[in-house]
Amino acid sequence: MQVEYSVLKRTYDIYKAEYEEAALRVLRSGWYILGKEMEKFEEQFANFLGVKHCIAVNSGTDALIMSLRALGIKEGDEVIVPANAYIASVIGVTENRARPIFVDADVYMGMDVSEIELKITEKTKAILPVHLFGQPNEMGQITEIAKRHGLFLIEDCAQCHGSRYNGRLTGTFGAVGCFSFYPTKPLGALGDAGALVTDDDVLAEKLRLLRNYGSKVKYHNEINGINSRMDEVQAAILQVGLRHIEEGNEERNRLAQKYIRGIHNKKVRIPPRRENATHVYHLFPILVEDRQQFCTYLADNGVKTQIHYPIPPYVAKCYKDWGYQWSDYPNAEMYANREVSLPIYAGMPEREVEYVIRVINEFE
Ligand SMILES: *Cc1c(COP(=O)(O)O)cnc(C)c1O
Repeated sequence: MQVEYSVLKRTYDIYKAEYEEAALRVLRSGWYILGKEMEKFEEQFANFLGVKHCIAVNSGTDALIMSLRALGIKEGDEVIVPANAYIASVIGVTENRARPIFVDADVYMGMDVSEIELKITEKTKAILPVHLFGQPNEMGQITEIAKRHGLFLIEDCAQCHGSRYNGRLTGTFGAVGCFSFYPTKPLGALGDAGALVTDDDVLAEKLRLLRNYGSKVKYHNEINGINSRMDEVQAAILQVGLRHIEEGNEERNRLAQKYIRGIHNKKVRIPPRRENATHVYHLFPILVEDRQQFCTYLADNGVKTQIHYPIPPYVAKCYKDWGYQWSDYPNAEMYANREVSLPIYAGMPEREVEYVIRVINEFE
């Protein structure tokens, strides 16, 4: 049997009629940027999260860059980020010429909260947790630390749409939540798209200016802005996705439970689930010591996998001037060396999950 890592076409086919109606509606409207579809999506996504404002932008990376800029974070400032973050989370900091300060990962592959306060200095301006793979961080303690030290809390929610910590939706804990709607994400567009969410009226206004050349009224440029606007086609497509977000999250959860119940191989470790949180399984990570051998074995048996992420940001070539070593963050290093992502997506046939489980259990 051949098992693809992810088949976007299958997810698309489930809601094909609705997607096509949405896209055609925009194509025929004659209005493609900064229009009613974007406004409608912003309102719907804000309602979904229970926040006052949603600002739709061009990508998750832009959302991260803009969040720091709108909060006034600049050169000389420090932002605390996970050592095992995705590179885009760190780009959000470095694009503003601020310095990322890394903390190692915990057993849930989130931020090790016990390290955060040790890294706070007079230059620290914000904490930026990344809810990796769809599982929330220890938001109770992180929120408390941010409050105690007067730091902004910025959430990277690119992988966790609809997940909750103690019943509260991720993205709503801090000053601002940053979302990506890259096609494979739990809520995905059919192109690049992203959004910021906040309850702060002043910050929201600033972000709206920032995304549109710094202007609200054409040619009246109030601040130094950029061009980062969600186009009308993506906004219409995302309204369809948002209507069905819970179905997708539930489906991946069901597939994940199948993996969890089915995989019994001493060489394979499944990271634990946080008790007081819901996981949306954007990805299904497992940890294997002989990764190379394991992945070759799976590939030989027709099963495709991916690695998230083989090179952590603190040792990325683009940041080599900081002089970090792999061993500076031992857990992040261990995850980078052992993580394997199994196929999981809405529309994945159950028999393929069963096959993957069987193949894994026969690995020696
Ligand atoms: C995908 C992703 C981003 C970047 O989003 P884009 O829309 O691709 O720019 C940022 N952070 C994390 C954790 C991501 O997974």
